[in-house]
Amino acid sequence: MLENVEIRNTKEAGRGLYSTKNFETGMNILNSTPYVHTLALKYHGVRCAQCCVFKPKLLRCAGCKLQYYCSKDCQKSAWKIHKEECKMLKSEKSMPDDITLFLGRILIRVENEFGDSDEPNNKIDSFIHVLQLESHFDRLDPSQQEDLGIFLMKFNLYWKKPIPGSLRSSRKLLDLVAAIKNNQFAICDEESSICDIGSALYLNHSLINHSCKPNAFPVFNGTNLVIKALEKIAPGEEIKIAYTDTKAVIQDRRDYLNDIYRFVCQCQGCTNDDEVDRKKHLDKKGNVIRRSDAIWQSAETMVRDMEEFKKNKEWNLMKEAAQGWLARKFLPDENIFWIRLNEFAFDAGIETQEWSLCLETGASLIVNYKEIYGPMHPTLGIHLMKFAKILLHIEKPNEAEEYFRRAFAIMSLFYEPESAVRKQLLDLILQSYELAQVEEDKTGAEKKKADKADKNDGKPKLKNLFAELKANGQI
Ligand SMILES: [Zn+2]
Ligand SMILES: [Zn+2]
Ligand SMILES: [Zn+2]
Repeated sequence: MLENVEIRNTKEAGRGLYSTKNFETGMNILNSTPYVHTLALKYHGVRCAQCCVFKPKLLRCAGCKLQYYCSKDCQKSAWKIHKEECKMLKSEKSMPDDITLFLGRILIRVENEFGDSDEPNNKIDSFIHVLQLESHFDRLDPSQQEDLGIFLMKFNLYWKKPIPGSLRSSRKLLDLVAAIKNNQFAICDEESSICDIGSALYLNHSLINHSCKPNAFPVFNGTNLVIKALEKIAPGEEIKIAYTDTKAVIQDRRDYLNDIYRFVCQCQGCTNDDEVDRKKHLDKKGNVIRRSDAIWQSAETMVRDMEEFKKNKEWNLMKEAAQGWLARKFLPDENIFWIRLNEFAFDAGIETQEWSLCLETGASLIVNYKEIYGPMHPTLGIHLMKFAKILLHIEKPNEAEEYFRRAFAIMSLFYEPESAVRKQLLDLILQSYELAQVEEDKTGAEKKKADKADKNDGKPKLKNLFAELKANGQI
């Protein structure tokens, strides 16, 4: 898949990846296994350390007794790196923290691949090798630089052996740690609803630059990361993904990108007066609200409170507070604070089973997500799926089916036929359809009794539904 893209120097962001062919929405651009990955400490002993799946019973490494795997195969795949790590872990009483384990695994690979040289001993299957990752160490604040130094001192207590020759100067090691921090991906589940499963480094993906108006989107398939085209891409176009949630307003996006990645975003979305972005700042009269305005401050307090409730899982309080704010309706639906409020209210509605709240806020989010992310974006697809599940739960199968189909139309572009999310959607479409049939039969039978008339609205039977999905390439 490396032939799909080529590495080039960009005008403003160092290296970048450029398309070498035409891509349609949903097509795979890049597909990579991690160079190194770790399972988050919180899932230790719960998920497999190699493929990260949940399994009630895991096999424990007989050596260190600290790593757990779902199968012999996973244990074998992990052994290439774990072999060295296992010796170090044996002298630890408990698991080291995530970043220590992560750096240790990188050093094991560096040791194996580079020995004492600055170049890898064998041909590599990525555009760059790990020592060519871009480091932003010089752009960090002095306190951040100091933190990295302290981390390395602690790391040495774990590592306990010589650092590989290619990294023996302390500056090189600091550069590597800074580069890792910059390029680590959080491993998410397929639906991107759980994003704290672990961390991974993908060398090719580290070359993909950011845009708040991206043309590509990362999707996880286990621990593999697949970059999908979000729109048509022509040869010669730069591939860009969003490093942050593009829903946020320009200033928040820029602050975040500068804090974490040390650059000021100059993308089209940030520099052109973008209509969608402009709407996020408007009040009900159509005036732009600013940070110093009282209304901005109330809205900010509202979001902070919601975040706090969510963090503490105080769902009932969150629901009541959200309902209170919604009733005040002091901002328009497209305003970013109102979008955030709708998201919190939607989540609180699900947790407290307040379905009317979910329907009201969920519908508003569908409109806004479509506007912000575009009509064929996985974020919209996932939201449509959640919305439809609620409709099915409250026994509105006809409407549920419609929303499941809309979700499927998007998700089938981005997920493989055998993916869990696609299988689940297909199953839910059929469930809704069948439930709708049962209800129709019930009401039909009642009506028949009443006026002895046979009503049939010509809805396609199950067989036709399959034929239809097949014709659309959806199964
Ligand atoms: Zn596994
Ligand atoms: Zn072990
Ligand atoms: Zn931007």
